[in-house]
Amino acid sequence: MAASNTMMSLPKLEEYLSAKGYRLTDQRRALLQVLWEADCCLTAQELYTRVLAARPGTNFSTVYRNLEVLNQLGVICLVDNGQQAHAFELNVDGAHHHHIVCRSCGRTRRLDFCPFDAWSGPEGFVCVEHKFEVYGYCESCSPKARKR
Ligand SMILES: [Zn+2]
Ligand SMILES: [Zn+2]
Ligand SMILES: [Zn+2]
Repeated sequence: MAASNTMMSLPKLEEYLSAKGYRLTDQRRALLQVLWEADCCLTAQELYTRVLAARPGTNFSTVYRNLEVLNQLGVICLVDNGQQAHAFELNVDGAHHHHIVCRSCGRTRRLDFCPFDAWSGPEGFVCVEHKFEVYGYCESCSPKARKR
């Protein structure tokens, strides 16, 4: 997504996508709405469940294909939670945040802190994206909890 100082809004995002030639069908709108309302990443299955509630009759492969397209357009990003099912979330201005990920159960939590806020990088280098994930074990999976 092009750098911009203004916070993205859902109508603006739709405008951006249609300018890229992305046809905004009802199902695609419903998916965008769900992504927009989620405050952190969701797996394709979780997204599908929510889209289905809004648009009965939607099938999983349609949702998945749309996620792939949105990912190619750079509008969403994949959060690698170390599990089979990757999680997705919007990658637009105003939605930026990082995660802590449990290595054992894959539970992902939002981190409202960006370690790169203060980083300016080498001169001449234009940074468009960065990733930062912290891996560990959540309360229920930490070795301590496992011993019981
Ligand atoms: Zn998130
Ligand atoms: Zn865990
Ligand atoms: Zn950041």
